[in-house]
Amino acid sequence: MGAGDKLPSLAIDWAEVEQEATELLVRYLRIDTTNPPGGEEAGAELLTHTLRSEGFEPRLYEAGDGRVSVSARLPGTNSAGTKPIVLLSHIDVVPVERDYWSVDPFAGVLKDGVLWGRGALDMKGMGVMELLVLLLLKRHRVAHRRDILFLAVADEEEGSRFGMSWLAEHHPELLEADAVINEGAFGFGELMGARGLVFGVSTTEKAPLWLRLKVKGRPGHGSLPHRNNAAQRLVEALTRIGAAESQITLRPEVAATFETLERVGMLPPGLDFRDPNVLAEVAQANDLVRALVSNTVTLTTVDSGQKHNVIPGNARATLDCRLLPGENPDAFLAHLRAVIADDSVEIEVVYRYEPLVSEVPVELVEQIAATLRHESPGAVLLPMMSPGFTDSRIYRERGVPAVGFVPVLLTTDELGGVHGHDERISTANLRLGTQLLLDTVRRAAGAP
Ligand SMILES: [Zn+2]
Repeated sequence: MGAGDKLPSLAIDWAEVEQEATELLVRYLRIDTTNPPGGEEAGAELLTHTLRSEGFEPRLYEAGDGRVSVSARLPGTNSAGTKPIVLLSHIDVVPVERDYWSVDPFAGVLKDGVLWGRGALDMKGMGVMELLVLLLLKRHRVAHRRDILFLAVADEEEGSRFGMSWLAEHHPELLEADAVINEGAFGFGELMGARGLVFGVSTTEKAPLWLRLKVKGRPGHGSLPHRNNAAQRLVEALTRIGAAESQITLRPEVAATFETLERVGMLPPGLDFRDPNVLAEVAQANDLVRALVSNTVTLTTVDSGQKHNVIPGNARATLDCRLLPGENPDAFLAHLRAVIADDSVEIEVVYRYEPLVSEVPVELVEQIAATLRHESPGAVLLPMMSPGFTDSRIYRERGVPAVGFVPVLLTTDELGGVHGHDERISTANLRLGTQLLLDTVRRAAGAP
């Protein structure tokens, strides 16, 4: 059998799988793993319990109070000389602003075939699909060469200190892999206004540089304004940052995205990406394009002052900067200092990760392409760089190929639920995602 052929079909009742995935995700969403503080233990327990009941021997890893990750291995039939395929997910979720939700984000509400809750997309839904892939491979005794390692980790949303980074230090054997499938890209029925069937596959990502700006000024009475008002100076610094022009860089991974969209007729009209001036102009107006072709700075919190008639002595703000692969964070900081042009504004680096340039995992991308060819005819594989960052970076920096591939089809509105409000996933997507993942994993794990 060639690597790109149709795989032997399995006697799987997909309606039943959809039902099972839905029930499991309802229970998973009801466990509040908001990070901070995380409290992934209860989520890990649900996964562990499910794995044990199917004859797996899961392992638990505790990196701190309640900060638990879990792994389970499905041995390959002929894994000598190979390393596992890792199915990676994170157990923690980002906080919610409850007032903006139409439903209780931790109730696991199911209505009209859609499952609502924080983590439905990011990324408990994917965790459930990966778990089901493992269970289905075992139940149907599917022969495959490599081991398959299910890994659900803590603390992805707060920088991975109690999750993937801790595991890399204390259980480096989990980093030994031939390939990793993780979050980082979804599929769409529509992209930037154009309709089509597109599955994103991210092979690289931007790197976070989280900064805190601190200004100390002179307190005083609101009736006697002076020139050293901390809040005022912070606002002026932030205004300069907001007005600064960003440099446009078209990385090869992003050029590949545009080229693919062009080939299938889904490139937004006027996005002549080969012309740097046009690209810069489009980036001004289009948030997604801007994120793909420049380092970005997002103001996320501002904090100063306590009383209407008191001049604050301190002001602080946090900036979420995201750098393109290959950028130098020190050079970026120097650039930012020049833009702020006020030495009394202190810049504290809260979190930084080196913006890696990672090699495109050609073989894995080919396997995904084969899956789409057979399981979703007419679908387009869209190679991309993820504007967000994921735990894939911890594998990629060790030279292990990792892809972001969450094979569900979202509307723009549904995508807005990721780190936003009303996060949700349809049960049809749970089924589709499990089908496509199963096929891809079978290809990646190889014939025995
Ligand atoms: Zn995530």
